[in-house]
Amino acid sequence: MRERKKIGLTTAIFIGLFLGAATGILFHYVVPAGKIRDDVFINGVFYVVGNGFLRLMQMLVVPLVFSSLVCGSMAMGDTKKLGKIGVKTLGLYLVTTALAITVAILTANVINPGVGLNMTSIQAAEVTIAEKTSLADTLLNIIPTNPIKALADGEMLQVILFALIVGVILAGLSESAETVGSFFSQFNDVMMQMTVMVMKLAPYGVFCLIAKTFSGIGFNAFLPLFKYMAGVIIALAIQCCFIYMIMLKGFTGLSPVKFLKKFLPVMGFAFSTATSNATIPMSIDTLDKKMGVSKRISSFTIPLGATINMDGTAIMQGVAVVFAAQAFGIHLTLSDYMTVILTATLASVGTAGVPGVGLITLSMVFASVGLPVEAIALIMGIDRILDMSRTAVNITGDAVCTTIVAYQDKAVKRETFNDPAAGLNAEN
Ligand code: ASP
Repeated sequence: MRERKKIGLTTAIFIGLFLGAATGILFHYVVPAGKIRDDVFINGVFYVVGNGFLRLMQMLVVPLVFSSLVCGSMAMGDTKKLGKIGVKTLGLYLVTTALAITVAILTANVINPGVGLNMTSIQAAEVTIAEKTSLADTLLNIIPTNPIKALADGEMLQVILFALIVGVILAGLSESAETVGSFFSQFNDVMMQMTVMVMKLAPYGVFCLIAKTFSGIGFNAFLPLFKYMAGVIIALAIQCCFIYMIMLKGFTGLSPVKFLKKFLPVMGFAFSTATSNATIPMSIDTLDKKMGVSKRISSFTIPLGATINMDGTAIMQGVAVVFAAQAFGIHLTLSDYMTVILTATLASVGTAGVPGVGLITLSMVFASVGLPVEAIALIMGIDRILDMSRTAVNITGDAVCTTIVAYQDKAVKRETFNDPAAGLNAEN
């Protein structure tokens, strides 16, 4: 009997991604509309399996973040060290976001996405406007008044704060709270095991999510906005392939090619789901098993990044600002651009990494420099595909910063990072 060659999870996720895209496009253009196509496949199988998988991933997020963060801060123990890591991570997150918008504004000024735009050929949609929260309230919102509610609502920053405090106290109490400490570390093992189990379904989930999305996208809508889309995608590529990789190489000396190769499935997953939050478990698991980045660091920095570090989103916002200014003939000064950089950076703090949120906070960015909010309606129709792409960059930024912070804290196992087979056994 011939032995069947087993394909790894990574390859399977990519096969799912491409087959899903091909199936979706086929369904959109070739398969005639009707009960079978729409009810049985698009809104039946694709919807149920795709969203079922997404819900399973989301199910993991809060318990996994909470337990792994308690264990992480318990292992670290010392608040000074924790503070140092926190400050370093925040600093890196802010720098990468500011760099991202700068790249976006520069790219957009070369491509000129809004020049010569035929507005009548674009379908405008209704715009949701973000409510502005003051900086003081954003900061206050980090403290949960009811930690159980924070867990129930998945308020990531509040969950992070509470878990950190619990972990630090457990470290201080050591033996007298041994039972609680071992409970969390055993519960964390359970959650990691659950992550591995759910991940096995990823190829099917990704196939269905992508097939459903692509079957609903009208590619004709892309044409008038082609330059805008190209601007966002080029800037995303520059950020991901150059800025991040130069930072990684510069700060750690680790190979960017190996990093990208190992992290690609996580990016594929983020692309299919367009949510950074749901990607947290897979990101922590990949960094740990394939790259040797300690969970002690990633369990803190990855959920934090999913909430406050959205470089891809900032890029879309930077290009959108230039696009709207050009389309409506508004001249922006250097100080306007500075305001955009500041507002877009702050707007991402405290907003959860879920689909489409970047478009909502964009209204805050537009308002800060007096651009018409109606311009958002122009780009809404094609935003999903950009949302998918920017989410992949958002989570890559978190992972790169995490690797740098962990490396400087001697929490990266170089042999694991360099071993092409690391973590693959667990996949099969
Ligand atoms: N979907 C993005 C994320 O989850 C946020 C956005 O840009 O809309 O990271």
